[in-house]
Amino acid sequence: MNYDVIVIGAGFSGAVTAQQMAQAGKKVLVIDKRPQIGGNMYDAPDENGVLVHWYGPHIFHTNSQRVWEYVQQFSKWFPYEHRVLGRIDGQLVPIPFNFKSLDTLFPKEKAQEIQKKLLDLFPGQRTASIMSLLSAKDETIHSFGEFVFEKVFLHYTAKQWGMPIDQVDRSVIDRVPVVLGYDDRYFQDTYQFMPEKGYTPIFEAMLDSPNIQVQTNREAGTMLKLDEVNGVISLEGTPFQGPVIFTGAIDQLFGYAYGPLPYRSLRLDFQRLETTSFQPAAVVNYPNEEDFTRITEFKKLSGQELPGVTTILREYPMAYDPMAAQGNTPYYVISDPENLALYQRYVKLAEKFPNLFLCGRLAEYKYYNMDGAILQALRLSDSLLERKSL
Ligand SMILES: Cc1cc2nc3c(=O)[nH]c(=O)nc-3n(C[C@H](O)[C@H](O)[C@H](O)COP(=O)(O)OP(=O)(O)OC[C@H]3O[C@@H](n4cnc5c(N)ncnc54)[C@H](O)[C@@H]3O)c2cc1C
Repeated sequence: MNYDVIVIGAGFSGAVTAQQMAQAGKKVLVIDKRPQIGGNMYDAPDENGVLVHWYGPHIFHTNSQRVWEYVQQFSKWFPYEHRVLGRIDGQLVPIPFNFKSLDTLFPKEKAQEIQKKLLDLFPGQRTASIMSLLSAKDETIHSFGEFVFEKVFLHYTAKQWGMPIDQVDRSVIDRVPVVLGYDDRYFQDTYQFMPEKGYTPIFEAMLDSPNIQVQTNREAGTMLKLDEVNGVISLEGTPFQGPVIFTGAIDQLFGYAYGPLPYRSLRLDFQRLETTSFQPAAVVNYPNEEDFTRITEFKKLSGQELPGVTTILREYPMAYDPMAAQGNTPYYVISDPENLALYQRYVKLAEKFPNLFLCGRLAEYKYYNMDGAILQALRLSDSLLERKSL
């Protein structure tokens, strides 16, 4: 095949751009260094037949109608509203913290007093941020805020990010509000669904085109040469003029020229158990005493009915080191000014190549949920397809 486009990475960012290019009649080469497609959404049954998300649990939710319509082309989906419990003071309560959590952890009269004051202080609001509770003048609300801050945020955030909470980007803390009611859904998005047969078949359907050739177990660095002086990218020795859409880690692409971009990584500890059910929710958070942050029970995400067996995952946050045997998967971007400045230095290198396009969470050094990654990839595809030269 003579390719019009090269896509590096077969996660959503790569698969969407490849699918859009192929649909427009372009010949696309997709390469991924992993043995399989799907990126971090890759799922497959384990030995007990439990559908496991091998890079951590993934729940689809979006407010984008475009994204929702797009993904429906490749799979049937079933409605799924995610609910998370957290173990606080030995009790399992809804997370985000809501009025049910309040009722469970506080004496009845105190809980009623806090509830009333919250509703008076934030009239008509569905949620309040933890920071707004902490800055409340009312002593009852302020100490309630301190309680939630300590039990839900403080230790969890330190574990997750490996740094004191005051050094963590504010947006991370604002992501989990306090709910002023009994709504115990983790997400509020308009569209909340899970794919009927899992995520991997979606990628198979997206990449199933006579215009797409997929090569797995192929590291971009072994196939592409980047000539920084002339701004030329070669594919196996031959200069390639078409778009090269890169969705991998930008620092790796440039041989860590300025050092690795920092990420948080995870040690994923899967356990197969001979029991039908392990816990009352798909995800239980452990904000305080334990070294792990959460346990996921996969059957409760997929709705699979498999009596006598279940599979769980404990996530242990750890530092990322691209050269280490463990912790070498970049999971979460650490978005602080120093790291973003380092990223910009890599962008400057990338700009030397007029046909190189950066797309996705690793190449853009940005946290995207699945829907954000899909939307970004659709937009990049739109802009590439508008070009007359393609
Ligand atoms: C633990 C965790 C849980 C998450 N849960 C959710 C969730 O519940 N809901 C949600 O919406 N989002 C969730 N996300 C976010 C979601 O994973 C991302 O939106 C998604 O991964 C973005 O897709 P991507 O294609 O940009 O990146 P990826 O999925 O990481 O795909 C990148 C691909 O590029 C390949 N690659 C990289 N470098 C090279 C190279 N040099 N050569 C060849 N191939 C290469 C990789 O092997 C990989 O397959 C979660 C993220 C994490 C870390």
